[in-house]
Amino acid sequence: MKFYDAHNHLQDDRLKPRLDEVMAAAQTESIARMVVNGASEADWPDVLALARRFPQVIPSFGYHPWYVKERTARWRENLAVYLEQVPSAIGEIGLDRWIQDYDAAEQEEVFLWQLRLAAEWNLPASIHCLRAWGKLLDILRREPRPACGFLLHSYGGAPELIPELTRLGAYFSLPGYCAHERKARQRETFRHVPADRLLIETDAPDQPLPAERNRHPLPEAGGKPVNHPANLRAVYDFAAELLGQPVEKLAEQIEENFLRLFSPEARRTRPGPTAARVPSRAP
Ligand SMILES: [Zn+2]
Repeated sequence: MKFYDAHNHLQDDRLKPRLDEVMAAAQTESIARMVVNGASEADWPDVLALARRFPQVIPSFGYHPWYVKERTARWRENLAVYLEQVPSAIGEIGLDRWIQDYDAAEQEEVFLWQLRLAAEWNLPASIHCLRAWGKLLDILRREPRPACGFLLHSYGGAPELIPELTRLGAYFSLPGYCAHERKARQRETFRHVPADRLLIETDAPDQPLPAERNRHPLPEAGGKPVNHPANLRAVYDFAAELLGQPVEKLAEQIEENFLRLFSPEARRTRPGPTAARVPSRAP
């Protein structure tokens, strides 16, 4: 069996000091691929470096809604520079009305620009959405979307939205965090996801599993648990229990879904950037 992590942040400072150890564990756990999501201009260089160093890494570049205030005047050009080097995925992008002092207009502008780019280049976009489902649906209905599809990472919307989101091209990824007792609502939602649109993620170093499922404990950071990317297998086990399937069967389905959305083979057949599509460079 091979395992595919639809969403993590391997570049995070909490994992940096033990990267070799972490990737050795990922190898032992048969993790074939992981989509490593950048969150701002500050970490895109690290994401690219990881992709050059580890063949398992599919790099994804994007501005996360939490960090839009940090963007420079050249953020669009900078993003294009990374995507031209490895045109594999755009993310983490999105809308978040849960954080304090968010600027909805600013978030929307940054999200829209990145979504349109994903559509033009036909790259899978990884979308974060908290308390903004109505807005996100509006945008997805009226804007161009990547033909290859997009990921709703750690899906926390209502089960009723799943058919419409599926029609629009969504994949839904299940995080290990849902295994916590109090996450019953989100956990149940995943029973409504079509089998061919389900993905699995660790979101490491965030969204830790309950302690009894944590197969790779790491020292806490800032008094909070740190999720190890190699816990992916434990998330698969949890997903198999939740959906009442043998983990082998689930793993086959997830592999098919993951490769359909993120495969490097599919990437090569995409049109990719053209001069006209790349935002113009300042002299
Ligand atoms: Zn994330």
